[in-house]
Amino acid sequence: MKKTNRKMAFAAGALAMGLAAQPASAGWFDWLFGKSTDTYTQTKHPIVLVHGLSGFNKLFGVIEYFNGVPEALTESGAEVFVPQVSAANSTEVRGEQLLAQIEEYMAVTGAEKVHLIGHSHGGPTIRYVAGVRPDLIASVSSVGGVNWGTPVADAANNGALDGLGNFFFGLVDTFSGGGGLPQDTGAAIASLSTDGSVQFNAQFPAGMPSAYCGDDGAEVVDGVRYYSWGGNKISTNLLDVSDALLLVLKSSFDEPSDGLVPACSMKVGKVLGVDYAHNHLDQVNQLFGLVGRNTADPVELYRQQANRLKNLGL
Ligand code: CA
Repeated sequence: MKKTNRKMAFAAGALAMGLAAQPASAGWFDWLFGKSTDTYTQTKHPIVLVHGLSGFNKLFGVIEYFNGVPEALTESGAEVFVPQVSAANSTEVRGEQLLAQIEEYMAVTGAEKVHLIGHSHGGPTIRYVAGVRPDLIASVSSVGGVNWGTPVADAANNGALDGLGNFFFGLVDTFSGGGGLPQDTGAAIASLSTDGSVQFNAQFPAGMPSAYCGDDGAEVVDGVRYYSWGGNKISTNLLDVSDALLLVLKSSFDEPSDGLVPACSMKVGKVLGVDYAHNHLDQVNQLFGLVGRNTADPVELYRQQANRLKNLGL
């Protein structure tokens, strides 16, 4: 499914080129009107956005994984970093890659801590970093996080897709300037499976509810604040071709999901809501901002979270 998805990304390349020249980029705006005085997202600590499986920071230098989110956060005062970790690898490998980049950001900026926001596999990935280095992390926000596994990974956890996956994720790495990050599809699928997640949670229990779908996850552990949000709707916009791809997997679920992850699996720490009418790609404002009407703007949820952290003095 992911492969087809990327094919569409190719096809939509021309469109993306146009979108890349988005109006009112912060630079132009600042130049014309002076620096924005809006401080809604002006957190004390920098915000680090961490992508999920098959993710990237920018594909072909154009298509952002977190579509429009870095700009929206930066415009109102946040300092934002978008690292790249292996598109497909274990939570631990991705976490170590992320930790190394966080240490670089801190060295460059002089920041004492960072806020982590991770989507999909990015959820467990940031929990790993907060688990091993809580002293560096102010908060963990898991968006559509695969925190208790997904039946989609359970179905693929037999090695059949590993060779094809490694080839494909290697391509993603190449086209997104990953610099040859190691890809291990089998390890990624194992991490995202229910068994793998339960094992990971035993090692990294911070913020996790005591039972599947519980709401009793601790909000603060070792000085790190934990939050989560996500969606439970699969098809949200008829114009978005990715919705049809997510619908293919619908039969994998016997509970509310966003098309790739059960809503219950998303819960960690303070649950801000896992019932937005967003599918798994809507959560990062894809494709190209096509989400449902009459629902929260996905980008606004990131802004609100930054504002929440800012108001806590973080
Ligand atoms: Ca969408």
